[in-house]
Amino acid sequence: MTSHSMGGFLSVRDVEVRGQKVFLRLDLNVPLDDGRIRDDTRIQAALKTASFLLEHGAMVVACSHLGRPKGKCVPALSLAPVAERLRQLLPGRNVRFAADAVGPSAARLSKELKPGDLLLLENIRFEPGETSGDVELARELWKLAPDLYVNDAFGAAHRPHASVFALPNLYKKVVTGFLLERELAYLAGKLGTPERPYLAILGGAKVSDKVPVLKALADKVDALCIGGAMAYTFLAARGIGTGASLVEKEQIPAAREIMESAGQAGVCLSLPGDHIVARAIDDEAGAHAIPTQAIPDGMMGFDIGPVTAQTYAAVTSRARTVLWNGPMGVFEKPAFAAGTITLAKAMADSKAVTVVGGGDSVAAVKAAGVGDKISHISTGGGASLELLAGTELPGLQVLTRK
Ligand code: AMP
Repeated sequence: MTSHSMGGFLSVRDVEVRGQKVFLRLDLNVPLDDGRIRDDTRIQAALKTASFLLEHGAMVVACSHLGRPKGKCVPALSLAPVAERLRQLLPGRNVRFAADAVGPSAARLSKELKPGDLLLLENIRFEPGETSGDVELARELWKLAPDLYVNDAFGAAHRPHASVFALPNLYKKVVTGFLLERELAYLAGKLGTPERPYLAILGGAKVSDKVPVLKALADKVDALCIGGAMAYTFLAARGIGTGASLVEKEQIPAAREIMESAGQAGVCLSLPGDHIVARAIDDEAGAHAIPTQAIPDGMMGFDIGPVTAQTYAAVTSRARTVLWNGPMGVFEKPAFAAGTITLAKAMADSKAVTVVGGGDSVAAVKAAGVGDKISHISTGGGASLELLAGTELPGLQVLTRK
C-alpha cells in the first residue's frame, strides 16, 4: 500500500490559521464561454475551505489554473471572471484579483491583505515555470503567503507542477482542504479497505488510458465489469468477433494479462454479451440491438446491449462498494446512451458506497439526474485513476502527516 493511501494527513482544521498568510491551491478550472462562466460548480465547491480560512482570520492567497495557456498570457483564460464570481459568493469579504500570479500586482496586493481578506492570483499556467515545476517560480509564490500551504485541488494532484509540488515543499506545514480530504476519504479510505463485494465498472474510449488502473484493480476487486469502446479490445483478446468496432490491437496482450490476473485472483470479469450496433457513429437511425456477443462484419459496437446493461445493474445492486469510471457507450448520442444511463440509475439505487470518477461518467450521472444519490463524485478524473492505480501523486507526497 502506498503512503498516501493510508491517509492521516493534517487538514485545515488541525492548524492555527488566524493571522496567518495562507497559500490556497484550488481547482477553479471552470468552463468559460466568451469570458462567461458556463458552470460554477468548482467555484461553489471551493467556498467551503476558503470560507473556513477567512472566518478563522487567515489572509488567503488563492491560486488556480484554468485551461491550457501553455506558459503564455491568454486573455480568454484569465481568472478575472472567477474572481468576480467569488466576490458575489463571498458577500462582505474583501476579494481582490491580482493581474499576475507572480509580479508587481500580486506582490503589492498580498502585502495589503488583512485577516479575513482573499486575493486570487491570475491563472498560474500563464507562467512558463508552472508546468515545468520550476523552483524559482515556487519561491516567488511562497513569498506571497509564507505561513501555511493548503491543497484543495485534487484534480491537479497528479501533476508535478510548481504550485502543486515545488511550492508546498517550501513550507513547514502542508495541509488538506475539505475537498481534498473528502477525495482521500473515499478514494484512499473507502476504496482502500472496501466493504465487499467490491465492484469496479470501467468504460470509456481507450484501454491504453486505463491499463494501469485495470492492472491494479484486477486482484483487489471482487468483480470487474467492462464496457465502452474498451470492451472490444478485451473481446478481441478472447478471439470473439468485433466487426468494425474500435479495437486497440497493441493493447490485446495487456487485455489478456488483465484477464489472466483477474482469473487467478478469482475476480469475476464481465464483458458485454450483447450490443447496440450501427454502421458508423453518425448512423443513429440504423442503431439496433444484437443479442449475440460477436459483432457481425461491417458493424460497430457503440453501447452495451440491454441484457448486459441489466446484468451490470444487477451486479451493482448486490455490491457493497462500487467504483465507476468511463461511460458504457457513446452516451453523448441518444441512440447509444441507454447502457450508461441504466448504469447511472443502478448506481443511484444501490445501497453500496458508490464512487464515480472521470469527466464523462460524472456528466452521465448528472445527465441522468442522479448526481445527488452517488456517495462521492470525484473532481479529478486523471488524478483519481492514478491514485487508484497505486501511483504516488506529487501533490499528496508533500502533505504533512498527523
Ligand atoms: P474516456 O475519456 O476514456 O472516459 O472516454 C469517454 C469517451 O468514450 C466518450 O466520449 C464516449 O463517447 C466514448 N465511447 C464510449 N464507448 C464507445 C464506443 N463503443 N465507441 C466509440 N467511442 C466510445
